[in-house]
Amino acid sequence: MNQPGDILGKLSKLGYRLTPQRIMILSAIENSDSHISAEEIYAQVVAKYPNVNISTVYRTLELLKELRLVTETDLGGGRVRYHSAEKGHHHHLVCKECGAVVDLDEPVLSPLKDALLREYKFIADLRHLAIFGCCINCSK
Ligand SMILES: [Zn+2]
Ligand SMILES: [Zn+2]
Repeated sequence: MNQPGDILGKLSKLGYRLTPQRIMILSAIENSDSHISAEEIYAQVVAKYPNVNISTVYRTLELLKELRLVTETDLGGGRVRYHSAEKGHHHHLVCKECGAVVDLDEPVLSPLKDALLREYKFIADLRHLAIFGCCINCSK
């Protein structure tokens, strides 16, 4: 299980300075139940550090993404969401009609990953995908 502060430990081991803003951003991600947007993170950070700029949040998210400590997924319509990479891999089914988002377990896409490797010699990075379509309620 993931203990809060795991990402912080990793970050400092990699030699990154743990500024108060970085710590706030990380705890916002780790404390969110599932997904959090950059704007939501910013709202939490700015409540405590009013002089923080949202670009600091974006830069930090970029860094965390590069280090593979958080994953990002685009749920469409400008909704980009983040969560801790250690919260387990999953994907999302996104309804284009009503915007509903359903979590999809990673193994569901394993056959796809295998097929891409077998037939295209392509190593797909299927860690956090959004698949767009129409949910059961909207297809009735
Ligand atoms: Zn997700
Ligand atoms: Zn729907």
